[in-house]
Amino acid sequence: MTIAIGIVGCAGRMGRMLLKEVLATDGYVLSGGTEPPGQAVGKDLGVLVGGDKLGVTVTEDAVALFSTSDAVIDFTVPAATRIHAEAAAQTGTAYVVGTTGLSDEDQEGINEAAQKAPVVQAANFSIGVNLLFALTKQVAATLDTDYDVDILEMHHRHKVDAPSGTAIELGKAAASGRNILFEDVARYSREGQTGARPTGEIGFAALRGGGVIGDHTVLFANEVERLELTHKAGSREIYAGGAVRSALWLQDKKPGLYGMVDVLGLN
Ligand code: NAD
Repeated sequence: MTIAIGIVGCAGRMGRMLLKEVLATDGYVLSGGTEPPGQAVGKDLGVLVGGDKLGVTVTEDAVALFSTSDAVIDFTVPAATRIHAEAAAQTGTAYVVGTTGLSDEDQEGINEAAQKAPVVQAANFSIGVNLLFALTKQVAATLDTDYDVDILEMHHRHKVDAPSGTAIELGKAAASGRNILFEDVARYSREGQTGARPTGEIGFAALRGGGVIGDHTVLFANEVERLELTHKAGSREIYAGGAVRSALWLQDKKPGLYGMVDVLGLN
């Protein structure tokens, strides 16, 4: 069986990596790719990633791409993801979403799409980071609130949202390990006369610079010791591999909203 994969936002950093991953994986073909009006539209997908011509070009038509694909992968921007979620709902096509920085309304669009189409959504598609989610929950459940929890992340200078979607998921994993509501304890930034750190707070710090693909550290600190769990991404391949694997996993699934924990069988 050959699976036809469409990549929306195919000229982006992740989009190009996804094109390469699909081309390098047996059993997959590229059904097409989209970009907004501009330079990339009309270009051949193979040429876009420095390879041979494939005879498939970048278009602007997301609904047409969803209609002719077995799965569509979306690492774009929140405004585009809203439109893509509607296309998934309209066509019932398997949909893999990696876009971060989504508002509650954007998320509602994905939840609605998941009633009509099978959807995998993950703040991070790497196996290592998904293990880090599980470890963070486990450590938070083991250590009492004498241990302060902070999450430090660093990404490249082009990243437009902060803290990263992965950092927020790590915070949620720690809160769930402690059996508390994340929204009650999250502190997204600190500046000026902040006062002493409240017990139970889960803090965030975001660094931006250079070409860093994605580093995350979860710190547990009390007066006498500090435990740090760190993941460092060495290549965007780790996300592209997980997203393409998710597209395959979705092929026999009913409509619903799934996560990487389901794809990896970590549930
Ligand atoms: P990028 O800016 O390089 O790429 C985004 C692409 O989307 C661009 O090419 C842009 O032209 C395109 N786009 C914008 N509007 C569009 C539309 N209406 N239709 C089609 N394409 C459209 O960004 P990036 O570094 O590739 O990251 C993209 C997203 O993926 C971000 O939200 C990032 O945080 C997220 N991300 C998630 C993971 C994960 O594992 N979940 C990993 C890496 C990045």
